[in-house]
Amino acid sequence: MQITGDYHTHTKYSKNNHGKNTIQEMVDKASDLGLEGYAVTDHGPGHIFFGIKRKNIDVARAEVDNIKKDAPLNLYFGLEANLVKGDGSIDLSEDEIKKLDLLLVGYHKGTVTDFFNPFRALFNPKKQKEINTLAYINCLNKYKVDILTHINEYIRVDVYRVACAAREKGTLIELNNKHIRFNESEAKDLVRSGCNFILSSDAHRKGNIAKLDRVLDFVEKYNIPHERIVNLDKLYK
Ligand SMILES: [Zn+2]
Ligand SMILES: [Zn+2]
Repeated sequence: MQITGDYHTHTKYSKNNHGKNTIQEMVDKASDLGLEGYAVTDHGPGHIFFGIKRKNIDVARAEVDNIKKDAPLNLYFGLEANLVKGDGSIDLSEDEIKKLDLLLVGYHKGTVTDFFNPFRALFNPKKQKEINTLAYINCLNKYKVDILTHINEYIRVDVYRVACAAREKGTLIELNNKHIRFNESEAKDLVRSGCNFILSSDAHRKGNIAKLDRVLDFVEKYNIPHERIVNLDKLYK
């Protein structure tokens, strides 16, 4: 089994020292590890504590383009946008999205949303789960999302319906080495949905790039067909 690329990692552009290394340091490490594909994907600007500063989107884009000239691997610039509205809206404008090679979307604590209410989650979890599910599905309908990151982490969703919507839209469901939160039946829902997957380290420091031990165990445990994992034994991009 060969991991060919890691497409969800963070750099110093995730602010407040959240990402520990520069883009160059991360790319050098990814190259040393023999990866063929690699992406830096800092937190979207809507994250209060860790989001990239909006003005740095152009700066990071230019930095990636510059490093790409000499990089011995396929290098991409993306962002892990935040799901912020029940209608599926994220924290990036259409113009900002155009600057990306890869659009990742996830839900994070530390972003202001109009759909997640912690009291409702506590007292009416079923209703909150349905609202969350619809927010994700609306997002997939609204944007061309490449990867949904760590679904079901922080907020619960109907895993089967989100995975089916992702399959229909050609969006990958991420299996995230740091955040993998699926119970037995949700894991089976992922498999029967027919969606495709990508394995990511979600590294916030260079030492964690391509660290995929937990997700590889998950893949084995639930017999996820390897042909449905885009960065295993073949190159995603
Ligand atoms: Zn982070
Ligand atoms: Zn995330």
